[in-house]
Amino acid sequence: MASIDVDNVGLVYASADKSRTSALDGLTLHVDAGESVCVIGPSGCGKSSMLELVAGLRKPASGEVRVDGQGVAGPRRGTGYIPQGGGLLPWRDALGNAALGLEVQHVPRAQRVQAARKALETVGLADRERAYPAELSGGMRQRLAVARCLAADCDVILADEPFSALDAMTREQMQHVVMELWQRLGYTQVMVTHSVEEAVWLGQRVFVMTAGPGRVHAVVDNPGAGSGDWRSSAEFAAQCAQVRRLLGETMETMGDDGAGPSDPTATPADDPEPPQEARP
Ligand code: ADP
Ligand code: MG
Repeated sequence: MASIDVDNVGLVYASADKSRTSALDGLTLHVDAGESVCVIGPSGCGKSSMLELVAGLRKPASGEVRVDGQGVAGPRRGTGYIPQGGGLLPWRDALGNAALGLEVQHVPRAQRVQAARKALETVGLADRERAYPAELSGGMRQRLAVARCLAADCDVILADEPFSALDAMTREQMQHVVMELWQRLGYTQVMVTHSVEEAVWLGQRVFVMTAGPGRVHAVVDNPGAGSGDWRSSAEFAAQCAQVRRLLGETMETMGDDGAGPSDPTATPADDPEPPQEARP
């Protein structure tokens, strides 16, 4: 288990035409070892960029990112990163996909296969090791993406909108699977989402980001995340209302000049599963 520190981080993208986009500015957040947190914010606020920084795929222009107390200078062995869409290779079967992280780390073949098999078993895919991603359901593909991290013995898992491609029923199922795996295996988990309900179900703390350039607007303590009947409790609805209200504040700061989010699903009013009674 490893903690994560993002310390006053700025990130600027330079395009070929010399224009510059400030994606993150003064982003600070801390995740405890073994914690499950969610990051939510308007489309374009820098959520994916933040995750890529923690994964060591990008370098900040200013500030520092640390995992397990060590400055992140590139991809770290124990950090599993699940990009939007899962990042599975379509030409590899489930076993080959699960073993990919180990292959990159030059682990010998016999050891890779053994660890990949064990990970497939952990996520309930033992009988599908020869199946290709296209032959698996959306939920199974999500399990496979997690299995890849588990095979590589990750103590940190970062996932970018992991459930956005799933239908509503599979989505809810997978949210349970993810929390069950996390409770069982105890890694540190950071998930980016733009669903309020999902954030309140999955995150022991929910970080609400401002519109871009992103930083943390508010942090909501949410200790009930993932527990038994949390989703149907009155507190759950109240927490959703609170996160939705905070998200609304970040929208207000964006003004009416058309600079708002391009993705309508990112607006709090359009959350896919809003509990009606929780609306302000
Ligand atoms: P989110 O995941 O919250 O939607 P991103 O991290 O993808 O936000 O993007 C943050 C900002 O940075 C946006 O304005 C986006 O257009 C910009 N951006 C992202 N990736 C690049 C890139 N490779 N080059 C230039 N601009 C980028
Ligand atoms: Mg994104």
